[in-house]
Amino acid sequence: MSQRTPLMAGNWKMNLNHLEAIAHVQKLAFGLADKDFEEVEVAVLPPFTDLRSVQTLVDGDKLKIRYGAQDISAFDSGAYTGEISGPMLAKLNCSYAVVGHSERRQYHGENEEICNAKVKAAYRHGITPILCVGEPLEVRKAGGQVPHTLAQLDGALDGLPAESAASIVIAYEPVWAIGTGEVATPDDAQEVCAAIRARLAELYDGQLADGVRIQYGGSVKSGNVAAIMAQPDVDGALVGGAALDAEEFVKIIRFRD
Ligand code: PEP
Repeated sequence: MSQRTPLMAGNWKMNLNHLEAIAHVQKLAFGLADKDFEEVEVAVLPPFTDLRSVQTLVDGDKLKIRYGAQDISAFDSGAYTGEISGPMLAKLNCSYAVVGHSERRQYHGENEEICNAKVKAAYRHGITPILCVGEPLEVRKAGGQVPHTLAQLDGALDGLPAESAASIVIAYEPVWAIGTGEVATPDDAQEVCAAIRARLAELYDGQLADGVRIQYGGSVKSGNVAAIMAQPDVDGALVGGAALDAEEFVKIIRFRD
């Protein structure tokens, strides 16, 4: 197995304004001052309006914390009111853009075709997509979590060349676990993350699949993160609610300490 550096990413959703963002990242930097960033990668995913503040702080203080956007337009410019493009995010030095978060799928009608276009838009501008996939409760109850999640994966990766897919981050986020306090068991997370890796091996090859980082997301907290991260196919966490508390997010990042 290749060495995959875990990626611990905090999805702030629609929380924290551009001033609160600065205070929050400063707290994270303080809590992680002695952290070895070769061992774990840390990213924050603030609202668009905070990205410039976060960039200024990260550049000014030479922080090793990375940052990215919670969404990206499928288009590079033009008459798309309210959208934020890949070139705009690249200009802000965003490392990542989340694609297909279940809240975007649920409230903004994002389907596989849109996710596929957004994944490709991110790569056009040197931004790594964090592609979110995962099943709703009724699908889990019927035992369909693996086929459902793999269908989302297949759709979002359609036509994506291996040079791009090699660096993608996949976040397995069962919808029933997001923001509910109901975390997947480590075995549940492992089952689907392993299936995602196996599908990447089918779509591309085993070596590529072995190098791709697959995160788990859904009610991750400092108290449950270690057991999930102990699973062989889980390479990080996408953290929502718990990432809004800087001290708690630092504890999550320090799951090995
Ligand atoms: C998320 O929004 O991606 C998420 C996983 O949220 P939470 O940690 O609050 O469940």
